[in-house]
Amino acid sequence: MKEQRDKQWDGVAIITGASSGIGEAIARKLAPHAKGLVISARRFEKIKTLASELGKNVVPVECDVRNQTDVERVAQTALEKFGRIDAIINNAGILPMASMTKCRVEDWDNTIDTNIKGVLYGIASVLPHMLERGNGHVINMSSESGRRVFPGVGVYCATKHAVRAISEGLQTDLSYRSKKDGNAIKVTTIEPGVVLTNLAESVTYQPAKEALQTIMNGVEGAMTPENIADCIVYVLQTPPHVEIGEMIVRPVKQSM
Ligand code: NDP
Repeated sequence: MKEQRDKQWDGVAIITGASSGIGEAIARKLAPHAKGLVISARRFEKIKTLASELGKNVVPVECDVRNQTDVERVAQTALEKFGRIDAIINNAGILPMASMTKCRVEDWDNTIDTNIKGVLYGIASVLPHMLERGNGHVINMSSESGRRVFPGVGVYCATKHAVRAISEGLQTDLSYRSKKDGNAIKVTTIEPGVVLTNLAESVTYQPAKEALQTIMNGVEGAMTPENIADCIVYVLQTPPHVEIGEMIVRPVKQSM
């Protein structure tokens, strides 16, 4: 077990939402040893600059996870450039905070399309390939909001609960099927508490934007994106027969 942990992860991974925050930190952590990384987001200039900084093994692909064709193109690029996909980190997400009493239906649609359908498209883009090879690792970014419901973020919490359910459903189906085909595909859900990132930028309702930023800044000892990237490295480096199903990670002093 120790030997396995000491070995740096050197596979091929896809990271969605790599233009900032947690996704960018994961790309920075994995890039030095990965055989290949395909980093994706809507802001192409950002991921292009990041890729050129990280090295030739990092390829940027513009992608809106709400669009299945975009997500498929990311997976296709990984297969064309590196010949296989060992892991996908379905990280892209938004948090359009506003009281549900405001009935911001457009925000609700966007949150569901990005945080739920984006994850499903990510899974569908790699799963046939992983099933054919009999291994791979699907890592989905949920949240503490996938376990509890906080005021002003009801729909966000619903999407993060859905991500947990989807991960569990996938894990169940894969392990059931494994009895027949022997696949060793892993599924992990990451559930962070407050991480200091630009997530509040995705709030479209102005009064809530400041409120969210204040809440995030007010958490003493809030985590950094690098803290979550370390968790991803840890789960990727477990031995082939060991699967971390869920990882809850929060600032020690977070009380909300
Ligand atoms: P950031 O806002 O820094 O990063 C969000 C990333 O998602 C960006 O790279 C953004 O890229 C991408 N993204 C958003 N919408 C889309 C889309 N439609 N298509 C493709 N990419 C998209 O926030 P975080 O790093 O904090 O968020 C990353 C994940 O972590 C999210 O799923 C979030 O819910 C989760 N999380 C964050 C916590 C926190 O406290 N920060 C706590 C728990 C979970 P671009 O705009 O270029 O498309």
